[in-house]
Amino acid sequence: MDIATIQVGQQCPACHQLLGTGLQDWHRACGQCSYEGSTLSVDIDVHGVTEVVDEAIREEGLGHLRKQNFEALEADLAARVTAAGGGRPRLLDVGCAHGWFLEAGRDDFDVTGIEPDSRVADIAVARGLPVRKGFFPDVLASDERFDVIVFNDVLEHIPDIGAALRACVRHLQPGGWVVVNAPARTGVLYRISRVMARLGLPGTFDRMWQKGFPSPHVHYLDDASMQAIAGHVGLRLSAVRSLPSISTHGLHARIRTDRSVSPVKAGLVAAVLTVASPAMRVLPADIKVWMLQVTR
Ligand SMILES: [Zn+2]
Repeated sequence: MDIATIQVGQQCPACHQLLGTGLQDWHRACGQCSYEGSTLSVDIDVHGVTEVVDEAIREEGLGHLRKQNFEALEADLAARVTAAGGGRPRLLDVGCAHGWFLEAGRDDFDVTGIEPDSRVADIAVARGLPVRKGFFPDVLASDERFDVIVFNDVLEHIPDIGAALRACVRHLQPGGWVVVNAPARTGVLYRISRVMARLGLPGTFDRMWQKGFPSPHVHYLDDASMQAIAGHVGLRLSAVRSLPSISTHGLHARIRTDRSVSPVKAGLVAAVLTVASPAMRVLPADIKVWMLQVTR
């Protein structure tokens, strides 16, 4: 089964009520709970956009913050996760991209990555990382079991979130963990983007959902919706932590990666965010990590 191609249903994955249309025609909001989703799907026409984005600029912009976040998350997992059969616990990174999290984890875990973009997977393999090309869970043997399965900026892109989590439960050891690292609905940037969309300025809101990107966001989760979705498949929410989403290091390059932003505007935005950065730390976190554990 290719879970990346299943279209998002009209039913709320958290409470099973029918979803209503939200702030844009593609935006979905649950009237019963806090879940938000989208009907955005992979757009073949925009594949060329990925070639336009300069990979080197992107690496410069995102690299420092992502590596810092991965190191903090890895240390947290190393303290929590134990191997069901003794020895080093097995870690699976779904959508591992260039393998940075595998690199952060390989001293403490027996690591495996899955990456559907074969060009990106080749780069990771060339660097000596154990990465399989293809989709989760197709590339796993039916009897393969892990102690922890990690989704770093991945689960919010998978339309059938329930199917993905059920597949995790099938491939986890008893007491095993699922780690969901994703943008949070309660984050300050997302809340600001909603207010702006209501005021008729939907640009930031569209950007938060990655509208027009090759793989846009189809879910914006919070603690309650994550807990409900996990509960349907035999997982419980055991811990929640947040990660910083703004690092002034490389910020200008990150903004510059977006070709629609002029250099002057990018400089102004970077300056404002640099000044605002200390305040962002005490406001609701934009990136959350939900740690789910098998209940059996
Ligand atoms: Zn709901």
